[in-house]
This record gives sequence, C-alpha cells and structure tokens, in this order.
Amino acid sequence: MNQILDEKLSLSELEYENSLRPKKLSEFIGQEKVKENLEIFIKSAKKRNDVLEHILISGPPGLGKTTLAILVANELGVNIKTTTGPVLERPFDLVGILTSLKKGDILFIDEIHRVPKIVEEYLYSAMEDFVIDVILDKGPSAKTFRIRLERFTLIGATTRMGLISQPLLGRFGIIFHLDYYANEEIFKIVMRSSKILNIKVDEESAYEIARRSRGTPRIANRLLRRVRDFAEVKNNGIVNLEITIHALESIGVDKFGLDDLDKKILRTIIEKFRGGPVGIKTISLAVNEDSGTIEEIYEPYLIRVGLIERTSRGRIATKLAYEHLGYEYNKLF
Ligand code: ADP
Repeated sequence: MNQILDEKLSLSELEYENSLRPKKLSEFIGQEKVKENLEIFIKSAKKRNDVLEHILISGPPGLGKTTLAILVANELGVNIKTTTGPVLERPFDLVGILTSLKKGDILFIDEIHRVPKIVEEYLYSAMEDFVIDVILDKGPSAKTFRIRLERFTLIGATTRMGLISQPLLGRFGIIFHLDYYANEEIFKIVMRSSKILNIKVDEESAYEIARRSRGTPRIANRLLRRVRDFAEVKNNGIVNLEITIHALESIGVDKFGLDDLDKKILRTIIEKFRGGPVGIKTISLAVNEDSGTIEEIYEPYLIRVGLIERTSRGRIATKLAYEHLGYEYNKLF
C-alpha cells in the first residue's frame, strides 16, 4: 500500500479528517438512500422519545462510516463513545464502556468484525435486553450477577460484512451498506473540502482529483492536501489542472487511483491466467491476500470502473484493464 491509501492515520491526518467531517446529515454528500432512511429512523425515534435501533454500517474503508455514526449522535443530540473491535480485548473492557452510557447514548464500535468472540458474547444480551451477566469465580462455586444498562444504541462499522457472525448480525435492527461514490459526488466533496480549507481549486482540477480518488472521500481529501502542497511550493498556492496532474503523477496516483493490490490483481489475471476467467480463491492465492478482502473491498471498485467483469466462470480482465496497464489486448499469449 502506498502512503495515500494506508489505513493507519497519523495524528495530523486524524485532525485533518476531523476538520473536514460534515457536522449535519444535510452536509453529508451522496449515499442518498442511506441518508433518507437514517432521517426517517432518527425522526421516528425522536417522536416516540425512544432509543434508536442498533445500526450496522458496512463498506470499504474511508467511505464515511465513522462520519455517519457521529452525525447520527449530533442529530439525536446524544453522546457518542467510540472504540474499535481489537481494543476490546477482554469482557471487562466492554463492560466498562457499556456501564458508562446514559440513556439514548451511542456506542460506536469500528471494525466490529474484530471484536474477540468472548467479548462479542457479552454484546448479545447488552444489545437485546440491555443487561450483562458477569460471572464471578470459576467452577462449581461460580456465581453470576446481572448488571442493568441504560438503553443505548450500538452503531457497528465493518469493512468485512462476511465476517460478522449470525447472532451478532441478527441483533441489528438497521443494516446499511455504503458503496463507492460516483465521481460527481467526490467532486462535490473536493469542492466542499477546498472551501473549508480555503484552497483555490478550479472545477477541472477538482474533477481530476475526484477521478483519481478510487470513489473514496478519505482518499479525495488526502489527494487534495497533497495537491495543495505542490501548488504552494510551485504555483503560489493556486491549484490548476496542470499542477494537479503533475502532483498526482509525482506521488504515483494513476488515472483510476489504483493502489498496488488493485494493480497486482489485474496483472495476475492478465499474466498468469490469460485474462481469465479465474475464480476469486485462485486470485487470492496468487496475490497472497485474503479472498474476502478481495471480494468485499477490491473487486467492487475494479468492477465499478470497468477493469474487471464478473462472469459465471470467474473474473475476467477487460480490454480497458489491458490498455490501462500497458498490455496489448489478447495478444499477450
Ligand atoms: P470510514 O469510517 O468509513 O473509514 P470516515 O467516516 O472516517 O470513513 O471518512 C473519512 C473521511 O472522509 C472523513 O474526513 C470524512 O469527513 C470524509 N467523508 C466521508 N464521507 C463523506 C461524505 N459523504 N461527504 C463528505 N465527506 C465525507
């Protein structure tokens, strides 16, 4: 993974992201269906003076899952506590957070598919009946005592829907899937971010950044930052198409914004499997990456931009993929 696509955010990047986070649902661009539904659920919960149902949001990294969770809390006027699956190592970690929630508060668990099984089991009764049964001692003298929780809303986010267990899935009342954004939507996000950051960007340049952002707001915002850096040093801070293309090419972002694994997948299909059709398991073995990650995170984007096609016999690389990576179509073998 290169720097632009790396999922580990530095502190300054986190601050940068937070400064660009929409504060209201109406500022959240795209994902119209999800927004529409959320608005209804929020209004209805408010009207009934009831707690919002538990929500699961799935989708690739950087598409706005955390942002949505924070927006829901803002719209409801409640507190939100955030944590991530791997941090909840022991049941005690979860109990500590759950008991600190007040009525209507939101608990946001990012990467919820990575919550350890023994902790996940405590979530079941917490989500369903707002209680946790804590077991004291072990063996025949074991005693349990019940802790009652305030009614809260759990918002879980996952990049790997396929890894969510059935018992957990069944306890979410609302499930949303976020898909990659259209270029026009990313364009709007770039324009919005540049306004907040006071960067002068013309529409052509914003569209060029959008096209190379892999349909992902997080990447769009990162690219905008890099382009601004180039413009500051080389063009008195003015972003135009020339400086944009120069900046993006210099940091190795191609026309489709493909990352190393995207390219590896395409090259593998073309070089090792004559362009396909080839099954996802075979591809995953060849590129040494988990097949679920390829299927849920990489393939949807490659299909979306027309570089891969899904057939009943497996995946095939399209003519566009050959051309983009500099192969002569079907003349390789
Ligand atoms: P995720 O939790 O899915 O990995 P985030 O919610 O952290 O993604 O979003 C990453 C960045 O992209 C944040 O800075 C966020 O403000 C921005 N962003 C995401 N979705 C949108 C959107 N629909 N409109 C505007 N900005 C967005």
